[in-house]
Amino acid sequence: MTKQMNAVFYLGPEHIELREMSLPEPNAGELLVKIRAATTCGTDVKMYRRGHPKFPPPFVFGHEFGGDVVGVGKGVTNFQAGMRVTANVFAECGTCFYCLRGQGNLCENLTYNFGAFAEYMIVPESIVRKNTFEIPSHISYAEAALLEPLVTVVHGWRKVASKPRETAAIIGAGGPISLMFIQLLRISGVEKIIAIGRSSLRLNVARELGATEIVNAKEVNTTESVRDLTAGYGADIVIECAGKKDTWESSVDMVRKGGRVLWFGGLPGGEKVELDAARIHYGEIDLLNMHGGTAENAREAFDLIASGRLDMKPLLNGELPLRQVEDALQQMIAGEVVKMVINPEL
Ligand SMILES: [Zn+2]
Ligand SMILES: [Zn+2]
Repeated sequence: MTKQMNAVFYLGPEHIELREMSLPEPNAGELLVKIRAATTCGTDVKMYRRGHPKFPPPFVFGHEFGGDVVGVGKGVTNFQAGMRVTANVFAECGTCFYCLRGQGNLCENLTYNFGAFAEYMIVPESIVRKNTFEIPSHISYAEAALLEPLVTVVHGWRKVASKPRETAAIIGAGGPISLMFIQLLRISGVEKIIAIGRSSLRLNVARELGATEIVNAKEVNTTESVRDLTAGYGADIVIECAGKKDTWESSVDMVRKGGRVLWFGGLPGGEKVELDAARIHYGEIDLLNMHGGTAENAREAFDLIASGRLDMKPLLNGELPLRQVEDALQQMIAGEVVKMVINPEL
């Protein structure tokens, strides 16, 4: 009889189930990893609510993990059984139109890797080759699991190119992405970091991690507040992490002339935003966009985690077993937690 394992399956909108399935064997180039920690993410919440356009149900979901290599496919030379590893959720092909132009995040043949809410998961060959990393002993499985969101934040951070003594405003502060951005902006010497959010609990975490000013969007006009905090000019950098039409628009009103806006949070297809063209053109405002990250961003993100320069602990709010993935996602939806850790051994 083949060995069985437990995994959380997505069956339809807000319908997930813990099921038994047979333990997969790693094919050539692949790894079999025993999951020790999988973290919940905004993408998981989105998938829980409406599935994924590229994956018909049923599929095992979850994608941020740290675990132990327990099986090694033929031809894998750089990983062995017993190693502690984490991996990015995707890998670029390296040969398509975009990859050849150094924009692997836009790759036409991205390999995805879902299935972390399970006792074991297979890491596909291209991800093993490009985006899998050995976790150093001083970093926990759960901290290492935060690699994937950090890859995208590093991509955005490189794009916005923050400099010492600048001022940055972050919309949607308190969520995991903003808490990573705040720490990276500090690393690049940004002096004033204005965290704009709607939960005072989460804004306090933002302050703990380096935000110098807190603006509660429930209480004040956020554009006016940013202008007041920047002698009327607006911030050098505005990063939108909320993914909402009105904050996409207001981010352009909060930035100074000659400044840059980074829209990190995506809007649904077909959504239109209204912007003052004269303000953007004559004010020389740079409008930056981003999606995902490259293999180079993954390497840099991993090095940042391994170096211990980022404090990941305030992003992790506690552990739950596999059978409570739904509870963890509901807590995310309620805004009660930044991230939960799923531990299959509980
Ligand atoms: Zn994620
Ligand atoms: Zn490609």
